[in-house]
Amino acid sequence: MRKEYADDLIFNFPDLYRKLRNQDFECDDGWYGLIKELSESINKTSFTRNSSLTGKSYPSILIVKQKFGILRVTFEEEVDEEITLLLKRYSDMSKETCEICGLKGSLQLSKKHSRNIKSLCDSCKQNTGWL
Ligand SMILES: [Zn+2]
Repeated sequence: MRKEYADDLIFNFPDLYRKLRNQDFECDDGWYGLIKELSESINKTSFTRNSSLTGKSYPSILIVKQKFGILRVTFEEEVDEEITLLLKRYSDMSKETCEICGLKGSLQLSKKHSRNIKSLCDSCKQNTGWL
């Protein structure tokens, strides 16, 4: 992901991404909006649940990447059910979001990059020569 996008995520969610640097966002720019929305949702549930009363520490993300065409987000510690459901929802959405431009896409198997899968829209499929 381009540096400006990754910097923006780290700037807006400094607690969530306290272990990451901008080069650690290992996917293309099209998922920036998806990751930002996911971060906002996690932020919201974490603020209400992990108050100082419960003594639970604020969640910390260690990995953000594309694997087999799907968004994978890994946390430092085990997360609660609410965050697990959010991760599931957003990884499902990533399958249908072009990783290059963010428009509606679908999973494509690359012949060039053997066994690699990426979600692409029709025009990025044509233009990137990724297939
Ligand atoms: Zn596209």
